[in-house]
Amino acid sequence: MFSTKTIELKSAAELDCMRRGAEILSQALAAAMAAVRPGATTLELDRVAAAELGRRGAKPAFLGYRGFPASLCVSINDEIIHGIPSAERRVREGDLVSLDLGCLYDGFYTDAAATVGAGSLAPDAQRILDVTKESLAAGIDAMRPDGRLGDYSGTVQRRVEAAGFSVVREFVGHGIGRALHEDPPVPNFGRAATGPRLVPGMVVALEPMVNAGGWEARTLSDGWTCVTKDGSLSAHFEHTVAMTAQGPEILTWHGRRS
Ligand code: MG
Repeated sequence: MFSTKTIELKSAAELDCMRRGAEILSQALAAAMAAVRPGATTLELDRVAAAELGRRGAKPAFLGYRGFPASLCVSINDEIIHGIPSAERRVREGDLVSLDLGCLYDGFYTDAAATVGAGSLAPDAQRILDVTKESLAAGIDAMRPDGRLGDYSGTVQRRVEAAGFSVVREFVGHGIGRALHEDPPVPNFGRAATGPRLVPGMVVALEPMVNAGGWEARTLSDGWTCVTKDGSLSAHFEHTVAMTAQGPEILTWHGRRS
């Protein structure tokens, strides 16, 4: 596993920096979500997100990360994460569109994602969106100072599986701060009362990826886009969350819980 010694705890001043970055990120992600409509290209969504970050003095965290060519990940229907925006790809009526955006501001990273429907969603698509959003909220609600990270993981898995869906295993959440990915890894599956202790100053990016069918994933030949192996729908929500002495604080909230 990993040592809790490698978890970087943030000072009050550092948390303030991350709050400001998270606010910018939330606004940029909200703008991209609002731009999701049938006929929009996925590149247009990327441009909206990048412009909103830029005009608030922040940088996109994913652009150039391990060679990723865009600011926003746009993953549609059976695509789980890491979809590459394209001028050739148009959103269609009824698409389930997952948007993932990272922000670098004042030396600190924040990370958030949300799934939205283009036009009106079929009931099965709406249901996986709702269950994924609710599982993240329930997982965060299960976090307590001096509790364990597994309290989050176990709660998410239970919620998702009770709805008849599955949690992606291959990708997990992560600590976040001066680096985009820090310790600890944060699985969206596992057992309560296990894992690293939740202490004030920990900041984690919590991001359940939920498949309507099996949890297995595969990566397309573009080297990035990750899809469900069985072709079933997938949804993704993410918040950057700080543990404080009073409990978990959703930094990427800002009037938008999900
Ligand atoms: Mg993330």
